Amino acid sequence: MIAEVLVEITNSNVDKTFDYNVPDKFINDIKVGIRVEVPFGKRIVNGFVLAVKKCSDLDDLKDISNIIDKEIVLTDELLELGKIVRDKTLATLISCYQVMLPKALKAHVGVQINKKYDYFYKVNGDIGNLKLNDKQKEIIELCKDDFVLKSELVKISVSSFNTLLRKGVLTEERREHYRLNYNDANRVIHKLTPKQKEIYEEIIGYKDLKPSLIYGVTGSGKTEIYMELIDYYLKKGKTALLLVPEISLTTQLINRFVDRFGNKIAALHSALSDGERYDEYRRIQNGEATIVIGARSAVFAPLERIGIIIVDEEHTDSYKQSESNPRYNAKEIAIIRGEMHKCKVVFGSATPSLESMARAKKGVFHLLSLMERVNGKELPEVKIIDMNKEIRRTRGHFSLELVNAIREKVALGEQVILLLNRRGYASFVTCKNCGHAFKCPNCDISLTYHKSSNTMRCHYCGYADKKPFVCPECHEKSINDLGVGTQRIEEELEKLVDAKVLRMDYDTTSRKGAHEKMINAFKNHEYDILLGTQMVSKGLDFPLVTLVGVINADTSLNIPDYNSAFNTFSLLNQVSGRAGRSKKSGIVYIQTFNKDHYAIKYASENNYLYFYEEEMRIRRLLKYPPYYYLCYIRISGKDNNLVNNEANKIKRSLDRNISDIILGPSPSILYKINNIYRYSIIIKYKNIDSIKDILIKINDHYKTNNNIKIEIDFNPLHIM
Ligand code: ADP
Ligand code: ZN
Repeated sequence: MIAEVLVEITNSNVDKTFDYNVPDKFINDIKVGIRVEVPFGKRIVNGFVLAVKKCSDLDDLKDISNIIDKEIVLTDELLELGKIVRDKTLATLISCYQVMLPKALKAHVGVQINKKYDYFYKVNGDIGNLKLNDKQKEIIELCKDDFVLKSELVKISVSSFNTLLRKGVLTEERREHYRLNYNDANRVIHKLTPKQKEIYEEIIGYKDLKPSLIYGVTGSGKTEIYMELIDYYLKKGKTALLLVPEISLTTQLINRFVDRFGNKIAALHSALSDGERYDEYRRIQNGEATIVIGARSAVFAPLERIGIIIVDEEHTDSYKQSESNPRYNAKEIAIIRGEMHKCKVVFGSATPSLESMARAKKGVFHLLSLMERVNGKELPEVKIIDMNKEIRRTRGHFSLELVNAIREKVALGEQVILLLNRRGYASFVTCKNCGHAFKCPNCDISLTYHKSSNTMRCHYCGYADKKPFVCPECHEKSINDLGVGTQRIEEELEKLVDAKVLRMDYDTTSRKGAHEKMINAFKNHEYDILLGTQMVSKGLDFPLVTLVGVINADTSLNIPDYNSAFNTFSLLNQVSGRAGRSKKSGIVYIQTFNKDHYAIKYASENNYLYFYEEEMRIRRLLKYPPYYYLCYIRISGKDNNLVNNEANKIKRSLDRNISDIILGPSPSILYKINNIYRYSIIIKYKNIDSIKDILIKINDHYKTNNNIKIEIDFNPLHIM
């Protein structure tokens, strides 16, 4: 018997299966989809069995050294999905499989994550004529009828317990113990409003299998509709998958689902330990969890009989894997899995991506609109504060108007959310005299100032240096940390307003559980103001929040990225939606230097559809998505000249082979990272078939080149 094994070899682009002989002792255990250990060169490596067959074209095969799994890791569906992902991204097949699996099930040597067990004991029946002391009798009394947890028995006496065990009086039973526990369902169910019900019924009754897009303003009760839909399919014996952006995978959302569905839920997110993730994954595999809530990679959760796949906040960047291969988009996979399972696929957003809205308008998606909030309240009123005029009256970064509004709300016992828009290159260090900007020597990007350690740091490679007193260029003592961090805003705020401020950003939430604690503390009104980065913009639902302030709406507009207007609009819309979600109306203040920019203007009018029209007009003019698809090619390496030359060669080869629009090569926006030089080529195309063959050729050509690295990203969300 022969097994075809796909191996993971680090730092190599070997991407094919190798035949191995299956020794007799493994014949019964070998299966497609399990992991095995095999000799490769002088090493032993891990790999996935992709096929089992009678004979091989090759002689002299090596033996499989070991079998790792009893149960299948890659089901038939995952095996097929992996191939689809490879075809869509041109990544290696092994990387496509690895990305689907929790660390404990990836094919990596040296990763050992074990199941946890509880040990239970029960009397063996036959005590015979053993002489027992009092403690031993007590133990026997406790577990004579039923299995009892070890910790209960040793509480009585460890030595007596051990004696009984040694003499064979107790039978042991091992039961798996999952690391995470969910509360029981409280069956908290809201009766849907007539409008919610209409959408729910429309989706269920819709016979066509095309995806539905729920365009529903913030607070319109989309999440409640998702729960009702999930319930419906669960009752039909199906399972459900809900994708959410990592950022909104807060306890708030999970708690809502747990309240309703209890331990039918499995939640997959980055705050889980590897062990917890492994357990959650197996609860899905063995059918104990029938609802999966998770971020991007949860789209590969090994659910069977899927009845519905929901992608919430479908416009968010986080569904696209941008940083590493395979550069897949979970929304695309959701649609593909939907076709495989013949199930419902539902996208939802208050600001649908242009791609999805354009599809909906063309009838490719089934469009459902929900324009009213559940509480019957209007969306919050939004006031724009023109910082160009305000600048002389401002207190640091706060306009007088915003400060007054904050004071007023705090005095009324209401709560405030303040957003510091940190997208882009915020707190860089410069010389006020000569304009010298401090950049990372490895990465050529601005260093960020960290006040607590008085250092300047590179966010890409970790390079750090003390902030100097004098400028190395002009020797003046005029070093300035431009831009702002949340810490600095917090200090300003505390001088301006007598209130309790809770700061939520990357630094304060990095410890496990910190995020959850903060949210609960704010909900319990231990604080008046929640100040934070993008983290405070999504998914949060605090009834006492009546004021939202955006300190700097503009930073995200200045990013050189075709999505920057959309991202700004959507961020402002999301964060505004945190205000006035309960009985009292909300108000929003947006501080900006660009009050006439259409993204800011339409955000202040809560007018998604006008924004959509304007943005589509610009996209069409500039030949951007959704009018054209983009393909981004990054060419990188240590030798600047060599990289430049190869980039030009690639461009010429593209010119010869395709007639689509080709831009570049040009130095990437992040030109030098960690001493690696990067160039980009962008293709704007209409039809993937016209460019795929040549891209595959280029990709293969450089696979074995150690000096040049090629990365291809189809439909990138950022061009860096
Ligand atoms: P969205 O996901 O569109 O922002 P949510 O589903 O979070 O909206 O609903 C907003 C608020 O309204 C939540 O606090 C939710 O519990 C409440 N809510 C939603 N639907 C109902 C309903 N039918 N009855 C009562 N409360 C509801
Ligand atoms: Zn750096």
